[in-house]
Amino acid sequence: MILRIQDVLKRVSAMNRELEELNQLRKRIPRERSYTDGLEVAIDKQVNDLLNRKIAYEELELENVPAELLVQLQKVDMATASRMQSNRLQVSALEPSASEQKVLDFLRDMPKVELHLHMEACISSQTLAGMLKRNQVDYSQSELEKLYEFNNLQEFIKLFLFILDSIKTPDDFELIFQNLREYLESNNIRYAEVFLAPSRMIQNGLDFNEIAWTLDRLANQCEREGGPVVRYLIDVSRTFGLENASRNLQRVLDAKATNIIGIGLGGAELMGPAHEFGPVFEQARAAGLRAVAHSGEDDGPWSIRDTVEILKAERIGHGTSAIQDPDLLQLLKEKRIPIEICLTSNIFTGKYVRRAKDHPVRRYYDEGLVCTVNTDDPEIFNVTLTDEYWKLYKEVNFRISELVDMNRMGVFASFHPRPAELWQGFDQEIKQLRSQYQV
Ligand SMILES: [Zn+2]
Repeated sequence: MILRIQDVLKRVSAMNRELEELNQLRKRIPRERSYTDGLEVAIDKQVNDLLNRKIAYEELELENVPAELLVQLQKVDMATASRMQSNRLQVSALEPSASEQKVLDFLRDMPKVELHLHMEACISSQTLAGMLKRNQVDYSQSELEKLYEFNNLQEFIKLFLFILDSIKTPDDFELIFQNLREYLESNNIRYAEVFLAPSRMIQNGLDFNEIAWTLDRLANQCEREGGPVVRYLIDVSRTFGLENASRNLQRVLDAKATNIIGIGLGGAELMGPAHEFGPVFEQARAAGLRAVAHSGEDDGPWSIRDTVEILKAERIGHGTSAIQDPDLLQLLKEKRIPIEICLTSNIFTGKYVRRAKDHPVRRYYDEGLVCTVNTDDPEIFNVTLTDEYWKLYKEVNFRISELVDMNRMGVFASFHPRPAELWQGFDQEIKQLRSQYQV
């Protein structure tokens, strides 16, 4: 099929106008009226649909675009400009050449932090098998391997729930923590803030205090042994509503585990809009807990704005749809709110970005936003933090100095009590490594 670029631009502009009108309309909906929620959902659905159609146009490959049209193209809007590129390069192979190997070695050895990492997603199929065996659950090895070979979001959710349901006792966390530690050490991650979502485990009859105290003890032990420093953020979850989230916060407060330093808001973004969880975040902040939230992964930029303005979250998980709203980007920049970038994860879920080189992280970084590099779910996506840095180098054209800079942003975006001190140590090591590998 041949499409004239003028037609594409016309259609994208028409969609932009429609989006603008819908967003205006949404702003005028009174919050306290009985029909408001349903109406908002209807508008959000339509906006999501439009954004997806727009992305489909933006992903069209262009050949021999005349220069004056390219200028016009850049003006359409930020998201379009970031995705539409003339004469796209062929996707380069991810395997490093001989000269690139030293870059990969440097990225692996670089001391790092990771701020967006789900503990449940650090469980390898071997650990899962060990847990099932220990808990005397019948399973077949081939069935287990098939679960890890998921191809879509539905299958991914199936695996995730299977993992959660396999955790039968707090002692299972010994094995899980061991997995986590191996992952952190093999990527030279010295400090990590790790999510744990207890809702399903509690529904399955596990005791939150026992989980919390086991995790606390394991983190202390790891630190004493000179291993990575692990702190936890409990995902209060948006999937089961405000009451459940409040109960989870109360559990965190009651457990008084020193290594649990805050809360996160994860789960199905379209089912639990950010603005509904204001009271939980307010209470968490008042109690001295840190607070972050997943946002703009599966929902539009309005969700991120609510997360900043209503929840006052200290970091945004994903933030992929922020690129759709220039005013929001300005707000994130002014408030210096860090974005936890999860490149591989975003491409897998495919909601707002389908190829690494189209990921808005390039634009965010260039616009001066605080960007940090993360994996989200390493065992599930079969990805490591070193891989994520490597993909940013190889596929998104980040230079080494920019990757080091994002690592530095991660240190200062963390809740480490002395980030400057932590970075000073990293910085010295990194300088040495760069001269050793000549990168
Ligand atoms: Zn996540």
